[in-house]
Amino acid sequence: MQKITIAIDGYSSCGKSTLAKALAQKLGYNYIDTGAMYRAVAVYALQNQLIDSNSKINENELTAQLNNIDVAFSFNPHTKTSETLLNGVNVEKDIRTMQVNDVVSKISSIKAVREKMVALQRLMGKNKAVVLDGRDIGTNVFPHAELKLFMTADYDVRAQRRQDELQSKGQYFTHEEVKQNLMSRDYDDTHRKENPLTKAKDAIVLDNTDLSREQQIEYVIKLIADMQLVLDKV
Ligand code: C5P
Repeated sequence: MQKITIAIDGYSSCGKSTLAKALAQKLGYNYIDTGAMYRAVAVYALQNQLIDSNSKINENELTAQLNNIDVAFSFNPHTKTSETLLNGVNVEKDIRTMQVNDVVSKISSIKAVREKMVALQRLMGKNKAVVLDGRDIGTNVFPHAELKLFMTADYDVRAQRRQDELQSKGQYFTHEEVKQNLMSRDYDDTHRKENPLTKAKDAIVLDNTDLSREQQIEYVIKLIADMQLVLDKV
């Protein structure tokens, strides 16, 4: 089997990371959660008072401090997933709060932040055998990825999934609050100047509104198997 790069882009809370993690495990590939990297920068900005009470980001200061920000992943053998480190500290829990959800799209629209994260992602994925999920993987980070998926799902289904996830971590928000956050992030992510979320021309759309986790994995594994038949002939 040839090693390939799998790029999964799409809207917020479409199950990109669930699918990406499952694929990486099945294929023995590395998984890179690029959203977690922008979330870690958001945590840094919050910890260092670079965001005021009106959610306004001190962009100049954050840009000036980018050299102080190191984002990495470490594999947790117990959960069998990689967890996010900010300057060596595990911030996996801190990056998944509603406070971070509210500011992360603004953080990720800052040019210097994107440049730094994209450079890191290219380095992490340079040896292929990797699954990355995010918003600009197939269009910008790895435009030559062999397999590109663009994920979408009904808003209410997505809001329900995210609300359940938050609730399982003891964070309680109404369906409407969660849905509004998803809509506003999607709006920001698709309308920003730098590498907005858009479907790559050669991406395959995967609408998982009515698909189980297993059905999605089966579908993508079949796509990969078919692709390998073609790659083997090249
Ligand atoms: O995927 P997740 O919801 O964790 O991503 C959080 C945010 O990070 C997104 O709403 C988006 O603003 C930003 N992001 C991005 N480019 C990526 C991945 C995430 O701009 N490749």
